[in-house]
Amino acid sequence: MTSAGTSLQHFASRKLAGLDRLNLRRHTRATEPVGGAIVARDGRRLINACSNDYLGLSQDATVIAAAAAATRQYGAGAGASRLVTGGHPFLFELERRLAAFKGTEDCLLFGSGYLANLAITPALLGAGDLVLVDALAHACLHAGARLSGARVETFGHNDMADLDTRLTALRGAHRHAMILTDGVFSMDGDLAPLPALLALADAHDAWTLVDDAHGIGVIGDGHGTTHCFSPPAIPPLQMGTLSKALGSYGGYLCASRAVCDLLRSRARPLVFTTALPPSCAAAALASLDRIECDAALRERPMALARRFCRHLGLAEPSSPIVPVLMGSEQAALSASAELEAAGFLVTAIRPPTVPRGTSRLRITFNAAHDEADIDRLAQALADILQTTQAAE
Ligand SMILES: *Cc1c(COP(=O)(O)O)cnc(C)c1O
Repeated sequence: MTSAGTSLQHFASRKLAGLDRLNLRRHTRATEPVGGAIVARDGRRLINACSNDYLGLSQDATVIAAAAAATRQYGAGAGASRLVTGGHPFLFELERRLAAFKGTEDCLLFGSGYLANLAITPALLGAGDLVLVDALAHACLHAGARLSGARVETFGHNDMADLDTRLTALRGAHRHAMILTDGVFSMDGDLAPLPALLALADAHDAWTLVDDAHGIGVIGDGHGTTHCFSPPAIPPLQMGTLSKALGSYGGYLCASRAVCDLLRSRARPLVFTTALPPSCAAAALASLDRIECDAALRERPMALARRFCRHLGLAEPSSPIVPVLMGSEQAALSASAELEAAGFLVTAIRPPTVPRGTSRLRITFNAAHDEADIDRLAQALADILQTTQAAE
């Protein structure tokens, strides 16, 4: 190896040893879906209770058939950016369907939700502008904010008084301002207070981007966080992903025609990246069909989350994401290992995904779970928590 290559090796090994010491090293492990919410890992079957495939649609026969037919007819990959070779008609059809579903003029697809958030804020803001991000917003909202070159302010999680104070102090000195928040917070499962947030945004002429990766398909009658309020609380920029309840892959922005058209020309992670394969759009279209016509399917993850919380005496959940805080990295890792031994896949969530001292199990509910599975999971967790407390 070259000497520069060797110094790189040493650097990486030193960093890894540091992560090991702090229980922060991550591992990817081969895990094979075997249908429903069941996966196989190391030769064992586990009930997956940490996937974001809330409706089980990634494993649904009609969704799979749509993706397979699109692949057979149109090929495996898209070949180039939509701006170079044009996009498959399925992409346009999905944009029309998502816009209609969210009640917006237009929609624009991206390679993933992460890419959508790297695209949206930098296409709309730059130097001289102000962006305010909820402290617990998803990493890609923070990354998009930084990438924009605007001044970035982090406000306290769901703290509207803090947001108001910062807007009052800073808005006047900046040309444009934008507020970024999750609709459903991905590691806590709580909702942003959208009516109050949108009122503040109007008062200060700030644009709002809501990331509803975990809302679409599963709350607000499937329409997402916006429709958990009465009347619905509709921000001008609504992004989300095809990769969770829709069981496919990709990201989207639903917004006005002018905003979407501006992004078609200006969003670098759209212009300079290859379009989604037609199969992703075909799968998402099939999933939308299911979501629109099957209320029992849409409501099942929430019903299971409520059942689980009742069993454990936890507060009523707002979404199908239920965090169980363990505190230390070690406590979260060992609880996760114990659940795996009991037949459940629930990965420990550690910093930097969550703040220090709040390592946790993040349990998510899937329409493909049985009630009996959820009861067993709740009991296994109750046993673990009792031994943890007894040991303290
Ligand atoms: C998962 C997630 C994303 C990223 O979406 P992908 O399509 O998986 O890239 C963005 N925002 C939030 C809140 C998420 O939970």
